[in-house]
Amino acid sequence: MRAQSGGHGDDTHASMHGTGRGGETPGHSHEKCELHLGQVSMTKAHHFETVFAADGIRIYFYTGDQSPLLVEKAEGKATLRFKDGTSREIPLVLQKPKEGERTVYFCPMHEDVVQMEPGECLKCGGMRLFAQDYLYAKADLSKVEPGALEATIRIKGLSGGEPEALFTETYEGAATTMRPEEAGEAAVPGEAKEAGHEGHAH
Ligand SMILES: [Zn+2]
Ligand SMILES: [Zn+2]
Repeated sequence: MRAQSGGHGDDTHASMHGTGRGGETPGHSHEKCELHLGQVSMTKAHHFETVFAADGIRIYFYTGDQSPLLVEKAEGKATLRFKDGTSREIPLVLQKPKEGERTVYFCPMHEDVVQMEPGECLKCGGMRLFAQDYLYAKADLSKVEPGALEATIRIKGLSGGEPEALFTETYEGAATTMRPEEAGEAAVPGEAKEAGHEGHAH
């Protein structure tokens, strides 16, 4: 299942991503790490999905093979450079997915068990799936034009053979961070976490 020599681990691959979409990488789609509708950067041993939204920037972690990861001990900062020449540095802090937010659930032991709603891994005898968390930089981007912001993300404290990572993404427009079924209706404040899932087929 794993690509033996997919170009991960060298700088060639990373340079194909970088600051903006310079075209698709041949033979290497990033659909497994665009699950939050974000922009994908590749570093030496990780993929990172950057989601720009009106309320800030979310960074999701994936392995070199594009399996979701938890943030764990990692932390970092985002340097935002705006087209008007101003810049700001904002700490990236761990955040758990909020109610109604588009969230990936995965099994850390079985890389093919990845889904967009809570559940259990049958291969693990019913272990509850992890909700993918993220690093969050709070910033009001509601008035920023696409292309008018460049975010340089520095992360340290990573595991997996790459303790630090650095990449830059250009803001291409705000993503919707809410689940599709929640986005249409206003979130109900104080709604219990288990409520509102009558739509499941059984
Ligand atoms: Zn890649
Ligand atoms: Zn499992």
